[in-house]
Amino acid sequence: MSPSNGLLSGKRILITGVLTDASLAFGVARLAQAQGAEVVLSGAGRGLSLTRRTARKLDAPADVIEIDVTDPAHLRAAAADLEARWGRVDGILHAIGFAPQECLGGDILRAEWEEVAVALQVSAYSLKALVGALRPLLVAAGSSSVVALDFDARVAWPAYDWMGVAKAALESLARYLARDLGPHGVRVNLVAAGPVRTMAAKSIPSFKGFEDTWGARAPLGWDVNDSEPVARACVALLSDWFPMTTGEMVHVDGGVHAMGA
Ligand code: NAP
Repeated sequence: MSPSNGLLSGKRILITGVLTDASLAFGVARLAQAQGAEVVLSGAGRGLSLTRRTARKLDAPADVIEIDVTDPAHLRAAAADLEARWGRVDGILHAIGFAPQECLGGDILRAEWEEVAVALQVSAYSLKALVGALRPLLVAAGSSSVVALDFDARVAWPAYDWMGVAKAALESLARYLARDLGPHGVRVNLVAAGPVRTMAAKSIPSFKGFEDTWGARAPLGWDVNDSEPVARACVALLSDWFPMTTGEMVHVDGGVHAMGA
């Protein structure tokens, strides 16, 4: 399929969370371009220069704008930039997560509120911050799609601790955003991914354990070095092929979520 008749042909999409070419968001950006989308990336803080370098590895040039989701000025500037550039936004990928080390490791009682607040703000509240700032542009598109990356938070995981709590908040928030934005033509969905080896994954102390067991538990098997299945689901949800789906969590985990043991 050529980009001109691809799934995302004519769509203008903001993709957050590209840090390296291993980032889940990088796979989404590459596939979105291949499917005809025009893409702008966002990066934050010290990672911004790395995002710019990684952007050059895409098949088509993609501009990078600065969005630290905790900085309202960045969000306002991004909205102004995208308004001037496109006048609308057809899709957003939220691929942002961070928790201080005190929030991870297998002792949920260890972190204090100051650390927990950072994890919740960056990993969950940020979806509201981003969607809120770009809401007029999403609405202007007539029909638009927000996709956020999740790690299934319906159960407790080894060492994931406050990131798990933050992901549970993200899941709930996606449902409320779906409720409030649906009447304006904006869909909000999550892709709950299995473990993929990225920078963020390396900072999760239990990640090696997930890597060792996931493939064995997944009926479809699982490759921690392959982000393509996650990218495909995100692109599908960003396309017009899920027009009546919102508030949904799509598992791309090889089927692990459905197994009892
Ligand atoms: P990644 O490549 O390290 O991406 C994480 C991104 O979050 C980075 O680009 C990082 O940018 C960004 N970020 C952190 N703080 C930010 C802030 N204040 N403002 C804006 N951006 C910020 O790792 P990834 O695994 O692809 O993670 C992307 C998403 O997928 C995360 O939500 C993660 O929880 C989720 N996920 C990952 C897996 C997995 O196994 N890898 C599984 C399920 C879900 P900086 O580093 O520059 O701050």
